[in-house]
Amino acid sequence: MPIDAGSPQAVAAADDVLTELADAVDAMPEAADFTALDTPRRLLLVHAHPDDETVGTGATIAVEAARGTAVTLVTCTLGERGAVVAPDLAHLGWEQDDTLGEHRVGELAESCRILGIGDHRFLGGPGRWRDSDMMGNPGNDDRRCFWQADQAETTAALVEVIREVRPQVAATYDANGAYGHPDHIQAHRVTEAAVTAAADASYRPDLGEPWSVTKLYWTAIPRSVLQQALDTAKASGEASIFGDAETVDDLGMGTPDELVTTAVDGRAHFDTKIAAMLAHRSQIGDGGPFKPMMDGLGDRGFGIEHYTLSRGVRGPGEGEHGWEADLFAGIEL
Ligand SMILES: [Zn+2]
Repeated sequence: MPIDAGSPQAVAAADDVLTELADAVDAMPEAADFTALDTPRRLLLVHAHPDDETVGTGATIAVEAARGTAVTLVTCTLGERGAVVAPDLAHLGWEQDDTLGEHRVGELAESCRILGIGDHRFLGGPGRWRDSDMMGNPGNDDRRCFWQADQAETTAALVEVIREVRPQVAATYDANGAYGHPDHIQAHRVTEAAVTAAADASYRPDLGEPWSVTKLYWTAIPRSVLQQALDTAKASGEASIFGDAETVDDLGMGTPDELVTTAVDGRAHFDTKIAAMLAHRSQIGDGGPFKPMMDGLGDRGFGIEHYTLSRGVRGPGEGEHGWEADLFAGIEL
């Protein structure tokens, strides 16, 4: 049956959910006394779902937080359609109770606490846009989903955040959303549009003073690293996030090594990253499908995070690839 989000009952129910969520978010201690502009070094991450902040950028966040950087995380949906891997939480899924989104607000709050994220927002407020599920699934047709969001509204929502916290550096996914998920693709599009609009003095002056982000990054997993992870998972003989794939070509993801510009070494914060991942128990359980990879690759595979600089001037590099080691490389603060 098509979902009629416009019916009075649906709107009333959605309002209740939003009120509950707003209360839950208000209770997050980090949200209360945060002033980004008090710190000179400011980083903005735009992610699609709760847990995305950990897998691709958790070590970077921990590195920056430990350095005193003001880290702002914007999450675009509550991840309502995520696959629940913890059996005792299976009833929360959208096909049963459909309360996974609310549950994940709590998981995300714990992850933010572990990683040291001082400022977390849901784009447009909690529950404004709903998880769209994987490409081609019925969730894509739900009018409330992020994939169907109005571009003018999403852009304005993110511009408001950018102009408020004034990050020198922002990061999101590449144009394929790293692996083709509609919400990740949309997060990319929204971030690109908002970074441009935020710097344009003629765009919505009511949303604050213009701010120009100095460097914009896309998260990246070098194909060589991905192949190594795949080989490790295969060798373990256990089920993994890679399914039946034999090579990187079968996965439809991974960044050619030559397009990678930056590698942040967060191995010293490896345990923090893993703890933050495990805070998302509905999605990750006890590590489940990530475990062969985590065990096999250890802190190197999961502790070093890669990026492609998409806007701004590349800073000085180091090591055999000449990669930047720091997202703020070359920026005068
Ligand atoms: Zn995601």
